[in-house]
Amino acid sequence: MPVYFIGQVQSNNCTRIKIGRTGNITRRRGQLQTGSPHPLEIMGWIRSDDEVALEKQLHIDFAHRRQIGEWFRIEPGEILPILRAEGDSGFVAKNADAFEITGYDRDAVPEYLGVWAWCDLEFHECCPFCGCFCGMHYQDASSMYHCTNCDALTDFSELSPYDDE
Ligand SMILES: [Zn+2]
Repeated sequence: MPVYFIGQVQSNNCTRIKIGRTGNITRRRGQLQTGSPHPLEIMGWIRSDDEVALEKQLHIDFAHRRQIGEWFRIEPGEILPILRAEGDSGFVAKNADAFEITGYDRDAVPEYLGVWAWCDLEFHECCPFCGCFCGMHYQDASSMYHCTNCDALTDFSELSPYDDE
């Protein structure tokens, strides 16, 4: 059962993050949203066989930041290293369209929305399809990068349309 991080972005742009565990993160978010005046966003989760111990440890680590119950004054950027350290058990809730072009820089190189809404992540460290921190592994046979979690293959050509000359 995963341990989740659900963030509440308040009107003053402060976030507070709930650390809990559930078998169904989407449904849990919906339940929590019912009692929340501000939008709640799933930020990430850790897949764990020992979710009770993991949740307890995280609650201890952030004890000095506890606001109320399972809510903590944590910035999204602070949970990123935790998710990253979990490797293929760590996930970010990825943007709906990670490959969406959001603009062009001075050299007309497209800039992409990116995998995670809250921080810049390199595409190869986090799967742009499932959000897993498995690290995209290069597969000689296909000349593509492979996600060991969702089995997606990509050559990241979505990211560099001007590079394949
Ligand atoms: Zn994947």
